[in-house]
Amino acid sequence: MRTYTGPTLAGGESTIECPDWCVTDHAYWEDTADDCFHKGEVLEVEPPRDRAEPARLVHPPLAANLMLHSTAKEPAAACVWLAVSESVADRVELNVAGVDKLLAEVDRFRAGLVEQRELLAAIDAERRRA
Ligand SMILES: [Zn+2]
Repeated sequence: MRTYTGPTLAGGESTIECPDWCVTDHAYWEDTADDCFHKGEVLEVEPPRDRAEPARLVHPPLAANLMLHSTAKEPAAACVWLAVSESVADRVELNVAGVDKLLAEVDRFRAGLVEQRELLAAIDAERRRA
């Protein structure tokens, strides 16, 4: 298990153990050992390039990463969340029930996208026949 030894809020020094999924370089960020966050890989939905403007950068519509406070012992709802966006302003903190609601919403979105894909394919096929 990876560990990090760094300063504490009180001016001392402490060593924390990172969970297996933590990818944060706590030394690089000069984290306070008793007040920092373990962070997992950022999971992103990568949108395909725009058909008309392939050079235009499109931000991921959905991203998530698991974060866990280095020392807080409260239940997960208080210290574990998913960041639904890279932008802090758009970020929402979710507990397990919240993640379940988001998964249901992603499923609903996917079903709607499949319907739109079928409509687009039908229109495309019709126009290619004409
Ligand atoms: Zn960590």
